[in-house]
Amino acid sequence: MNIPMSLQIKQGESLVQVEAEVYPFPADLQDLMPIIQSISDDLVNIAIRDAADENKAISCKSGCTACCYMAVPVSEPEAFRLRALVDEMPEEQRSAVQARFSSVMDAFQNTGLLEDLFQSPLTEDDIPKKMASLHAYYAKWQPCPFLENNRCSIYEERPLICREFMVTSPAENCSNIQGEGVERLLVPSRPARALIAIASQQKESRQAVLPLIQILEWTSEPRAPLQQNFAPEWIALFGSALQAKADESMKYLAGVGYPDPQGPV
Ligand code: SF4
Repeated sequence: MNIPMSLQIKQGESLVQVEAEVYPFPADLQDLMPIIQSISDDLVNIAIRDAADENKAISCKSGCTACCYMAVPVSEPEAFRLRALVDEMPEEQRSAVQARFSSVMDAFQNTGLLEDLFQSPLTEDDIPKKMASLHAYYAKWQPCPFLENNRCSIYEERPLICREFMVTSPAENCSNIQGEGVERLLVPSRPARALIAIASQQKESRQAVLPLIQILEWTSEPRAPLQQNFAPEWIALFGSALQAKADESMKYLAGVGYPDPQGPV
């Protein structure tokens, strides 16, 4: 029987609460992605409601895909889950997806951009360089390999960052390479960052975050299995990480810290 869990996250003066049903067994974070995705969706819906209270409406809509040409960071458990998803695709679809992964990886070969963006932790001093690399990545206008006919072909399983990246500014502003005129939805507890934080604390030798376009290559190399834990403990850890990210966001918004909650992972 599943265990009901309630995560309460303090975001400044407000308290948000999300519910989850968790099975009481050992699991790794890859197994728990559906629960984590559901918590992420709930937090994003709360953020959308809060934005609506400030008369800000989400302008993202189906078929609008500018963000699918940007650098998409994923955590290690997401990388393994997406790899499994590709492996389970029917042969024709899998071959097409694999070909798109190869093509986009070729486009970034020898540019140094993936290394600049993903191979060192984000510190405050790095931000200008990382932002320049993010803009250079976007300027190459390479579609995510999961984009098919202007639609996300893995919509239900899309990474956390894709779930929480929404804008309240006019959709046409999103094509601005420098991000000028783009106003992102504020999701103070940033589930994508919280997952990266707990995943990266488990094994020091692993990569905390990697580009989505690199997941097939990265998961093809021999790796130790992901760490197992009692599932409710993972979700409690995720809740603590969400609170830490909410605290960071509040400090940033008060002008006394970083990173920008609406900035890159
Ligand atoms: S996973 Fe889907 S939503 Fe995310 S960038 Fe790729 S196509 Fe777009």
